[in-house]
Amino acid sequence: MKIIKNLVSTSKYNIKCPYSMNAEFIVVHNTANDASAKNEIAYMIGNNNQVSFHYAIDDKEIVQGIPENRNTWNAGDGGSGKGNRKGLSIEICYSKSGGNKFIEAEKLAAKFIAFKLKEKGWDISKVMKHQDFSKKYCPHRTLDMGWQRFLNMVQSELNLLNKPSTGSSTEKILYRVQTGAFSKKSNADALLAKVKAAGFDTYMVQSKDGLYKVQVGAYSVKSNADAMAKKLKAKGFNVYITTESGSPVTSSPAPKKTLKVGSKVKVKPGAKTYTGGNLSSFVYNTVYDVIQISGNRVVIGKVKAVTAAIHKDNLLVQ
Ligand SMILES: [Zn+2]
Repeated sequence: MKIIKNLVSTSKYNIKCPYSMNAEFIVVHNTANDASAKNEIAYMIGNNNQVSFHYAIDDKEIVQGIPENRNTWNAGDGGSGKGNRKGLSIEICYSKSGGNKFIEAEKLAAKFIAFKLKEKGWDISKVMKHQDFSKKYCPHRTLDMGWQRFLNMVQSELNLLNKPSTGSSTEKILYRVQTGAFSKKSNADALLAKVKAAGFDTYMVQSKDGLYKVQVGAYSVKSNADAMAKKLKAKGFNVYITTESGSPVTSSPAPKKTLKVGSKVKVKPGAKTYTGGNLSSFVYNTVYDVIQISGNRVVIGKVKAVTAAIHKDNLLVQ
């Protein structure tokens, strides 16, 4: 928290803060003025009145005028009054006219007070108001708007400070090897089937933005992810590495298209003919028509020109 210090000169300690102090609670005030925090502190440390406070807070800044280990003449409860001798005093600025500057000043004050409570290991019961120590109706505008409301503001800020951090910085970074990201799950399913067919262990996750991502491993060491990416690239897949996590999604393979005469098919890479013969390499990159099917034996070709007979398990319906 940024705190601007404009501390009173030690030569004025006898006027402004004559006693050493170990603060036991916080005392909240409103300035009943329309000056900035800087100006309130400059005025307070510059005059010779026995009036003092530790902090002034406006809509933008927290300015300190008296060290926390000195007392302040803030509470109007006398030379040995608890408010004056044990209270950490805070003035909220712009309370005379109110409006947005005051609203913002109160918000910043709530943040700062929560920060102080946390720092000192105090709870909300340590937040007092000037009125608790003398008859003065102060902090006037905060009281008008509701004291409990202000305490609630401080409490919410304190809750935020006490929230255990989600620990994203301590979370282990994993390098995830990814072959594709799709908004349509069926597209991800199709790619996943291809990656699987190429012999990789693969799975699908859904990212926070809803994309279906096909991934092939998550590695704590980046070079291992790079090695897997290289293997995938060699098989013709697009690959990139991401550290973003996602939730697992079950891939439901696209419904199998039925193989029938007239179907468009491709021969699985490396497959042989029905009788075990070799095929020319261009065959694997060509889409053929199914000309005839008898049991597992499927005759494929271009229109009516027969190219080969292939086992049906070695055909990919397009
Ligand atoms: Zn006051």
